[in-house]
Amino acid sequence: MTPLLRILILGGTTEARRLAERLAPRPELDVRLSLAGRTSNPVPHPVPLRIGGFGGADGLAAYLMDERIDRLIDATHPYAAQMSANAAQAAALARVPLLALRRPAWQPVAGDRWREVANAQAAVDALGDVPRRVFLALGRNEIAPFAGAPQHFYLVRSVDAVEPPLAAPRAVYIQARGPFREEDDRALLAAHRIDGVVSKNSGGDAAYGKIAAARTLGIAVILLRRPALPEVPAVETVDDAVAWFAHAGVSAARGV
Ligand code: NAP
Repeated sequence: MTPLLRILILGGTTEARRLAERLAPRPELDVRLSLAGRTSNPVPHPVPLRIGGFGGADGLAAYLMDERIDRLIDATHPYAAQMSANAAQAAALARVPLLALRRPAWQPVAGDRWREVANAQAAVDALGDVPRRVFLALGRNEIAPFAGAPQHFYLVRSVDAVEPPLAAPRAVYIQARGPFREEDDRALLAAHRIDGVVSKNSGGDAAYGKIAAARTLGIAVILLRRPALPEVPAVETVDDAVAWFAHAGVSAARGV
């Protein structure tokens, strides 16, 4: 009998969940998925979950060896650079083959008014001194620097409540989980008379609505630059990640 191939997917993204859905029914694979535990109410997944950090690259390497993981898939968000770095280091330490599933960045098209900046503080600087009405489409952990520019109005959308709230006198909070449709985001930006959007270049469809809406409404977008990620074998689509397992049953041995 062919031994089960144990797969660990580092998740927290739609792609990770879709990959798990595709691999879960395969009898030769034993798939589990890891979440950081950032959101209080994660969406259901079709495979067993483990939740919480591993304790750095060494901790992940120990987990891979202890649990006899045969394949590691880093399907984390493109801005989860620490986890991706840890995955590369741990896979090398534990000698477990690693594949990264990385969605491509959005590319500007005609009508986009984009400016790319290094980080959230640089986005604050780019907004300038004159009061503006800003849509902050950033995680609750990333918006703190905007408290340094309290002259602006902020519309903040995040999955979990922003606690404590931003130390800015004019801020409105929306708790919502994507995907977000372009027409809904257009209505949202118009209703709040937004004149600037701050976002990551997340790529994919789920968060693109605001980018398309900003283009239609002629609103400037400040994009936080993508972080550098380790150079490891990588694919851009769930289909290509599934293809990596095409011959899983015949190459189940560790290190293949
Ligand atoms: P990060 O800064 O790269 O990672 C910080 C630490 O969080 C890691 O060192 C690790 O702790 C733990 N961690 C991260 N992802 C993990 C996972 N999938 N399973 C177990 N531990 C994990 O990560 P982040 O940017 O805060 O993102 C956290 C999670 O949210 C990731 O799963 C990511 O896919 C998801 N996410 C992130 C963003 C974003 O914009 N950054 C957006 C959407 C979803 P230890 O060192 O203790 O192992």
